[in-house]
Amino acid sequence: MFLFLSLLQLPPSFPARILPQPTVLNFDDHSSSAYNSTPWARFAKLANLEKGSHVSGICDLKSYFHRFGYFPEVAGNFTDDFDAELESAILNYQNNLGLPVTGKLDPDTIDLIMAPRCGMSDATPRAPTRVHETRRYAYFHGEPRWSNPHPMTLTYSFSPDHVIDYLSRDQIREVFSRAFSRWSEVIPVNFTEARDHRTADVRIGFYRGDHGDGEPFDGVLGVLAHAFSPENGRLHLDAAETWAVDFKTENSRTAIDLESVATHEIGHVLGLAHSTVSDAIMYPSLKPRSRKVDLRVDDVQGVQNLYGSNPNFNYESLLESDRETSGVKMVESLTWSALWMMALSLYIVHQFI
Ligand SMILES: [Zn+2]
Ligand SMILES: [Zn+2]
Repeated sequence: MFLFLSLLQLPPSFPARILPQPTVLNFDDHSSSAYNSTPWARFAKLANLEKGSHVSGICDLKSYFHRFGYFPEVAGNFTDDFDAELESAILNYQNNLGLPVTGKLDPDTIDLIMAPRCGMSDATPRAPTRVHETRRYAYFHGEPRWSNPHPMTLTYSFSPDHVIDYLSRDQIREVFSRAFSRWSEVIPVNFTEARDHRTADVRIGFYRGDHGDGEPFDGVLGVLAHAFSPENGRLHLDAAETWAVDFKTENSRTAIDLESVATHEIGHVLGLAHSTVSDAIMYPSLKPRSRKVDLRVDDVQGVQNLYGSNPNFNYESLLESDRETSGVKMVESLTWSALWMMALSLYIVHQFI
């Protein structure tokens, strides 16, 4: 008993290999095997490599990092050498995505590289930050924003041709209506649906593969969607995904929450680039079967710097909800730590008996 109680005093840091990880049937832990059949599954074999390695397939990883703004253009083809440029790309990627900055292809880094994400590059001039400031939002080059006259209304429309058939038009309209309203609650911008797709400010559609804008989609998972900076207005979703409006009725392991992605891409349409805050809507990665639709302080500060605040917006209640979410996460993490402690204690006690 004394041993058990003293173990509870220990900090929660012990090798995870002491006890087997629980079997996970969904994507909640980014497990590498979850992305086996996705466009970036081939990167799994690069796990644990570090500078100096030479392995077939590193050239593809350099191409991936180049696509998302971490690796420079080179003359000729990318090589299979794990060189200083690749290490630098990994360091920047880990720093940007909130991972431990090791410069190595550790399992967490490889899992996030293989995870589905937005197709927009992460390479953007970062918003100026000072010590003690927590904002991590960013804008596109030149900080473009919509310049429609005040009070600003942006129209949006769904492509009549580029559609998916397993969700009704009304289901998709409801999802986007909620996603737009989250942004209009915090900035003085209204969104209204327009009939004429060609003349709408924001033009939404589901596209497959190479669809003519230089940013081809890649099938199930991988890149999920992309949108263009102001005042372009194109918002494209990969038609190959299993888009879900309700995980109770959509059972696919690779289902992606439409509302989460819609909310993220509208952020791009308004002028926000990717954030380094993992809880923010503008973080580039989203796990299958997960839902993230609430704007966080980082998102709100970023978009309000571009457009000002909606006079009806209550900043205090946003801070409160941010604190509550962080609190819940802390309690969850403490609960898990306590459970691990108990399991470890029982395991060690068992070894001694
Ligand atoms: Zn994005
Ligand atoms: Zn596109």
